[in-house]
Amino acid sequence: MQYEGTVYRPPSEAHSLIMQITIGCSHNQCSFCSMYKNKRFRIRKLEEVLRELEEARNCYGRIKRIFLADGDGLICKTDYLKEVLTKIKTLFPECERVGIYSSPQSILNKSLEDLIQLRELGLGMTYLGVESGSNQILEEIHKGVTAEQMIHAGRKIIMSGINLSVTLISGLGGRMHWQEHAIASAHVINAIKPQYLGLLTLLLEPGVPLEEKVRKGEFQLLTPIEVLKETKLLLENLSVEYCIFRSNHASNYIPLQGTLPADQQRLIRQLEAAIEANGPYDEYFRSL
Ligand code: SF4
Repeated sequence: MQYEGTVYRPPSEAHSLIMQITIGCSHNQCSFCSMYKNKRFRIRKLEEVLRELEEARNCYGRIKRIFLADGDGLICKTDYLKEVLTKIKTLFPECERVGIYSSPQSILNKSLEDLIQLRELGLGMTYLGVESGSNQILEEIHKGVTAEQMIHAGRKIIMSGINLSVTLISGLGGRMHWQEHAIASAHVINAIKPQYLGLLTLLLEPGVPLEEKVRKGEFQLLTPIEVLKETKLLLENLSVEYCIFRSNHASNYIPLQGTLPADQQRLIRQLEAAIEANGPYDEYFRSL
């Protein structure tokens, strides 16, 4: 396998065979994201990808999961993706799930019939960065879609029968908009009803546009206690029938995991306890 540049994958794809079908991100404009800034987006040649899948078959034993990287693999034409999925089915009959990153734009560009066909060929999971449910925040971070379009995209995936894992970013509204960020994000999740919800905490690499705003004093980062309060407000406003919730990434201040709504009150109590225990240090964090 010949990987190009840094390869990112969701935590749940840690044991998957990673196959780059795109290089970089087709959008690549989000103001907080540094992941693909040094890559010029392109879709890899289909023959190259099919050949690498054959090579992988010769190198590896049982493959249970395959993840199609880089950012926004769903932007590829449906016929291209059908060829890749058909090849995977032929070469790796033991593969239980193929996952892919998608952008709201690439989902909206596909018809429901296209998505159903991809699901029938083995596409079992798509990962969507919702980031925030607030239209103001989505605009400020240059996500390129509104909350309404995000809901439409997420619902389309759910209707196609492909599992949907979405991420939100704690702290993305800064100190000015943390309440709006929590409540509007809960509203979007309630409308989409994804099977999985992951929470990351805003971490800014030097040089990304949002980090420059922080340096100029135009955006105030939340303290760890404020992030916990925001997460609590989010959880208090979530109303889903069944959703696996994870906030246990290295960026998160306390590890939270559970199934909503069954574990919702326990998670809120866990947050309350952490806020109470660490509240006295909030002034110290503010002074950093
Ligand atoms: S957050 Fe996602 S869509 Fe935005 S630039 Fe980064 S990889 Fe691309």
